[in-house]
Amino acid sequence: MEDCIFCKIVKGELPCFKVYEDERVLAFEDINPISKGHTLIIPKNHAENLWQISPDDLTAIHLASKKVATAIKQALNPLGVATLQLNGKGVNQLVMHYHLHLVPRSDDEPELSITAWELEQGDMEAIRATGEKISAALV
Ligand code: 5GP
Ligand code: ZN
Repeated sequence: MEDCIFCKIVKGELPCFKVYEDERVLAFEDINPISKGHTLIIPKNHAENLWQISPDDLTAIHLASKKVATAIKQALNPLGVATLQLNGKGVNQLVMHYHLHLVPRSDDEPELSITAWELEQGDMEAIRATGEKISAALV
């Protein structure tokens, strides 16, 4: 896609710090890292989000995430690795080309705010009704 920065990275028109590539996906370091080793995995084919990406590309992304997360574990020995993937401007997706974040946390780094939400029990009736609504919408 013309004006997409991640398509430009795929085509080599913009640089990246590549860590992994296969016929369907590319993985590279995020240039505004939340933590040391923050890595993005993208499909080479443009798709904006989880609703648009093809099943084959989605499979390739997740198989690659296992390889890259294993390499991150080997290289950085983190306390853990969070995966995060945003769909839509309303949840702060900034680059409208599907990407899976791999965010490690090393022992010299603070807790990741994306993983540190407070547990507060919800309204069981509302949870049940919402679950039923989603379930009924499945095709
Ligand atoms: P989002 O909020 O869309 O899930 O996150 C987009 C991510 O892409 C951000 O973490 C941002 O730092 C990263 N990013 C934006 N532009 C570039 C770029 O040109 N190169 C790289 N490597 N990362 C980028
Ligand atoms: Zn793109």
